[in-house]
Amino acid sequence: MRTTIRALLAAGDDSASAIGAPDQEALDFKGLRDLVDRTVETLNGMGIGRNDRVAIVLPNGPAMAAAFVAIGAGATTAPLNPAYREEEFSFYLSDLQAKALVVQEGDETLARSAAQKAGLAIIELRPGDGGDFTLAGEGPGAASLEKGGFAEPDDVALILHTSGTTSRPKIVPLTQANIAASARHIGETIGLSPDDVCLNIMPLFHIHGLIAAVLSSLAAGGSVVCTPGFNALRFFSWLDGVRPTWITAVPTMYQAILARAARHGGVTAEARLRLLRSSSASLPPQVMKRLEETFGCPVIESYGMTEAAHQMTSNRLPPGKRKPGSVGSAAGPEVAILGEGGAHLGAGGVGEIVIRGPNVTHGYEANPSANADAFVDGWFRTGDQGTMDEDGYLHITGRLKELINRGGEKISPLEVDEILMDHPAVAQVVTFAMPHDKLGEEVAAAIVLREGETATEGDIRDFARQRLADFKVPRTVVFLKEIPKGATGKLQRIGLAQKLGLVPADA
Ligand code: AMP
Repeated sequence: MRTTIRALLAAGDDSASAIGAPDQEALDFKGLRDLVDRTVETLNGMGIGRNDRVAIVLPNGPAMAAAFVAIGAGATTAPLNPAYREEEFSFYLSDLQAKALVVQEGDETLARSAAQKAGLAIIELRPGDGGDFTLAGEGPGAASLEKGGFAEPDDVALILHTSGTTSRPKIVPLTQANIAASARHIGETIGLSPDDVCLNIMPLFHIHGLIAAVLSSLAAGGSVVCTPGFNALRFFSWLDGVRPTWITAVPTMYQAILARAARHGGVTAEARLRLLRSSSASLPPQVMKRLEETFGCPVIESYGMTEAAHQMTSNRLPPGKRKPGSVGSAAGPEVAILGEGGAHLGAGGVGEIVIRGPNVTHGYEANPSANADAFVDGWFRTGDQGTMDEDGYLHITGRLKELINRGGEKISPLEVDEILMDHPAVAQVVTFAMPHDKLGEEVAAAIVLREGETATEGDIRDFARQRLADFKVPRTVVFLKEIPKGATGKLQRIGLAQKLGLVPADA
């Protein structure tokens, strides 16, 4: 059934906890529904209505989760990574045509100055307990309100940028119906109920945290307890205090947790976890095994992406199968493997993973060429390569898109290229993925310097750091006389680390 964020919230009993934090009283479902209604009224009064874009830059925590739900019930939310530099904020605020920016009262984020320079209305959020909040500010003015009231299923609920094969990130609009479908798919896959309590350690500007942790919990009438962000040192006290029934995270977080688990044997033995869910990057089978041994519960690896409002495939809870090294079977959308000639391949065939279903975006915004590439016969091309086994379980075998996946954080190499090309000593640059044992991949850059110019690795990294959020700054910079080209004369980012001899050929 096609529905909306607000309709999903009907699943919770009035007095049942909805959104909380480890050290705060939770907001119950009645409180959350009241907050939603109040927020939409306030936004409408400020001149913000359905399909108007509201950029949100808030610290990770319950207020961010509640703001996503409450603002999303009557407008389009556009959460941005608080770690961005001012230049990045300026780009995103203008690219998404934000009507206003929501920031936390007293929070000195660089998003404020970017919004001020752009003449954008700034709305201050004052947090209360467990996600409750009030909004204050001028807004763009009631005269500019086009459509008030609650959003409908086809309205855009969420806009995220995805790092693409161009330096310009693509805008992914997700409708109310898209994200509601995805939240329900996740709930069905892992059997979420009102008894479930999710401990959120994922950033809430990313699709994984927003949909898998927050919205799927609420849609099942369960609750989500939001931490200020992942912290391996504090994790065990949260586990002990919150007593979650499940967690969803990226593999690098689980690896950091495992590294400390031996010191917290009492807490792990007492935990009432029903499952651990892993997504957004590949989970090494060894990590899966150690997690299951440590926490005594099944680890469910799922495959997600922004354009699918997160989940596409998933392993299953017992008595269903979970296969280490596989991302599981279709879990929401239909999933197929597209061969070179455009035919759908049977079991064992290797090709591009394609999807279609109610959770999949209708297309990138204002980007006909990207859409022409992205859709074939109504199927969305993920840019990932894989093969399906006899049980319909998907195995990811590679990536066709030039994305760097740094432990779940996605970086467009072209965006980094473009910044580094502005360095006065740089003649040519190719940013590429460097295999990394914990993160899966790290950002690296190969640079050809201009004749007679010099620059050190440190100079290049300092230059990048001024204009790029830390996670996009190349960890490795190599200087070359010439950048190696593929057989066709084209630059080949994929496999460049091996070609340059920076890693063994089989890494
Ligand atoms: P995002 O849009 O940030 O969610 O990133 C989506 C991309 O992350 C996918 O297209 C895959 O390349 C990668 N990804 C997501 N889940 C997995 C997984 N379980 N294993 C391997 N790669 C994954």
